[in-house]
Amino acid sequence: METYDTVLDVFDDHQNFALSTHINPDGDAIGSELALYSFLRDLGKQVLIFNTDAVPKIYQFLPFSDAVLPPEALQGYSPEILVVLDSGMLKRIGDDLCRSLIPSNAIVNIDHHATANHFGRYNLIEEEASSTSEIIYQLIQHHGTPIGRDRALCLYTGIMFDTGCFRYSNSTPAAHRIAAELINAGVSVDEIYRLVYETTPAARIRLLGDVLQTLGMTPDGKIAWGYATQEMFRKTGTGREDVDGFINHIRSIDTVEFAVLVSEQEDGRSKASLRSKSYIDAGEIAAEFGGGGHQRAAGCEIDAHYDAAIAQLVASAQQRINKLKEVSGVKPEEFSERLN
Ligand code: 5GP
Ligand code: MN
Repeated sequence: METYDTVLDVFDDHQNFALSTHINPDGDAIGSELALYSFLRDLGKQVLIFNTDAVPKIYQFLPFSDAVLPPEALQGYSPEILVVLDSGMLKRIGDDLCRSLIPSNAIVNIDHHATANHFGRYNLIEEEASSTSEIIYQLIQHHGTPIGRDRALCLYTGIMFDTGCFRYSNSTPAAHRIAAELINAGVSVDEIYRLVYETTPAARIRLLGDVLQTLGMTPDGKIAWGYATQEMFRKTGTGREDVDGFINHIRSIDTVEFAVLVSEQEDGRSKASLRSKSYIDAGEIAAEFGGGGHQRAAGCEIDAHYDAAIAQLVASAQQRINKLKEVSGVKPEEFSERLN
């Protein structure tokens, strides 16, 4: 496991960098990536960002978001160092980039996922960090470079996103202290919140209506699920990225411990988001299906139709709940303290 010093030395010792992050990038993926881009540029390095997916519209207000290039732009650029951000597994950067970027360079892996693979030559993995953005903040601080307003906007957006606006259990004292520093550096909290969460197109709200109609629950109400189909995307003029956050509605149901939201992909396979409240480990269930994530938020792809995928995920969660009951004779709810 690398320290901040080791990673800063690697930065010092090289000149050409490529940055990348996971497919379907979220606020933390983009925020951490853009802040690191700006930091390396200020150190006088050549830095290019290659992402499989474009920057989602809601993050295009962030400084440096124009710097993100598609995989096709690589065209012979061979960086000495590839920095991969917020990606528990290397393949999460996408197949094309894996093929073209990986063979030629040393990888620095910066991540906070509990299920993180140590796929880099250098691995800066901080499971206690709320977000990858928090790790980038620490890295820049460690170097002694001022954060500045532009990088503060990126990093605050990342921490805000990954902590669910400071509501999830990863909203640690450190996350709050760093957020305070970022506000001091010029972040306007209400403005960022508005830009990220209150600019929803009407089409997305219509999609939400369709998805919520699919709600299903086990008889005890502990496990709940929903799905989004290609037909719904077509009808409402939306895409798969538009379901981001919908799962929170399912988890917010009073009786629910474990929530599943499956999206039908264009090829008919399933992309699942998993969330739990207090005693089921969503990351373990995702890992069982070849995915990953955290205790409370995880995801995976399943090579099956959405109803079959839901059935498999629900069965796995149900088995875990049954086991907790069997082993202990106490209510599963009482396990929450041990897990958190
Ligand atoms: P989301 O459900 O918001 O897409 O993802 C929740 C969490 O699970 C994120 O931390 C994300 O990195 C992780 N995750 C989502 N999908 C996958 C996947 O297919 N594979 C892996 N390894 N992690 C995933
Ligand atoms: Mn993250």
